[in-house]
Amino acid sequence: MSQTAPRTVVIIGGGIVGCTTAYYITRHPSFDSSTTKVTILEASAHGAAQGASGKAGGLVARWAYPQSLVDVSFEEHVRLAELHGGAERWGWRYVNCGSWEGRAEAVPESSSREAGEEHEYLNRRKSLEKTLGLEGGKPLKKPQNKTSKLPDDLNWMEEDLTDAYSLMAPPVDTAQVHPYQFTTSMLSLAQERGASFVRGHATRIVTSNGRVTSVEYTDPPTQAAQQLSATHVVLATGAWAASLLPSLPITGTRAHSITILPLSKDLPIAPYVLFTEITLPDGRGGASPEIYARPGPEGEVYACGAGDDAPLPGCVDDVVVDEEACEKVWMEVRGVSRVLRQGSVDRRQACYLPTVLGRRAGPIIGEAEQVARGLVAATGHTCWGICNAPGTARAVAELIMEGEIQCVNLKNMAPKLFL
Ligand SMILES: Cc1cc2nc3c(=O)[nH]c(=O)nc-3n(C[C@H](O)[C@H](O)[C@H](O)COP(=O)(O)OP(=O)(O)OC[C@H]3O[C@@H](n4cnc5c(N)ncnc54)[C@H](O)[C@@H]3O)c2cc1C
Repeated sequence: MSQTAPRTVVIIGGGIVGCTTAYYITRHPSFDSSTTKVTILEASAHGAAQGASGKAGGLVARWAYPQSLVDVSFEEHVRLAELHGGAERWGWRYVNCGSWEGRAEAVPESSSREAGEEHEYLNRRKSLEKTLGLEGGKPLKKPQNKTSKLPDDLNWMEEDLTDAYSLMAPPVDTAQVHPYQFTTSMLSLAQERGASFVRGHATRIVTSNGRVTSVEYTDPPTQAAQQLSATHVVLATGAWAASLLPSLPITGTRAHSITILPLSKDLPIAPYVLFTEITLPDGRGGASPEIYARPGPEGEVYACGAGDDAPLPGCVDDVVVDEEACEKVWMEVRGVSRVLRQGSVDRRQACYLPTVLGRRAGPIIGEAEQVARGLVAATGHTCWGICNAPGTARAVAELIMEGEIQCVNLKNMAPKLFL
């Protein structure tokens, strides 16, 4: 990839990958704002991190996948947190991560929905597949035996409803961030060094003589067509990547989540992330919500359910939140935790996980020179985009600023293998 200055970099997508890429370019040792212009182009009317990057759980794990990218990403997360006060700024902390199996108690419904009345999408559940990383990732240091006893400090789950608990990885290997706070912090830090944030819906990546030359977009208030000239375009549009590059095998899986504010601030919620296997009462089958205690004075708890195949809308602002799906997650959490049951739901939300179709797993990172020189894909991060954003962003920044990726070998994620 050409290294010649001046560079005009347009990053399409203001999610974690786009904003973190802007951060790494503007912090690169050879960055000079007079010769390198960085613009993030984001379609949402509400700013950055309106998609999965603002609504994910926020787990950062050494045992995630793919391993090469995780290794550099985890170390970068540690470094970023030290450098910029991540503990206060974006809720960075090491966290216990366990697998919990047990039974839910019957709890009264908090909505008027009749039992069994569900939208058809919700019947076609898809796993977010985070725990697949345990096999492909770093082996656990010692066997983690299942026990029916909970850890002493896990103060928000019930011993009498627990069938089995096991530690999935030691706390040094698992951490968490608040994904919205992390993404918007990356954006602010990039803006401090001169990056711009433009609201607009990219409609076309324009090329000439085999190189990118500009990005066309519509300016939402006027719907007028606009253009940003570019020497480099970074495609960081998550689940929407194929709308600009249709040959990319990427789609989206919708997933719902809720945040719960515990009733009492006097009871600190112990720092655990739980992957659950819940047997529901009254023969209603099973469920596997992920439940995340989050740091901070409010003691927020996040929980997300399985994915479904509701079609991807044209814009992140048009994602439909199905109240029934959120209620279902809340029922499951209330059924297993008498502490969380006393709290109330603060946010009910949905977002699209970027999903890579076909035999090869994502993400897809690197120059798509078969399409055009200067076009860099940074997408398809599936269920580990929060974890893997810093490694991705560092690699993309090196590609643009130095001409090649130095920090990690990403050859098996090269766009040419997917296009
Ligand atoms: C329920 C759930 C829980 C998750 N939990 C975790 C977790 O604990 N740990 C983890 O590592 N990962 C997790 N993930 C995965 C993670 O959220 C994603 O991999 C990551 O957020 C993807 O980031 P992104 O920047 O690629 O995409 P997005 O966050 O989707 O951002 C893409 C942006 O591009 C914009 N855009 C799209 N098209 C255009 C266009 N044409 N013009 C302009 N802008 C455009 C969108 O508006 C959007 O803002 C979770 C995902 C889900 C759904």
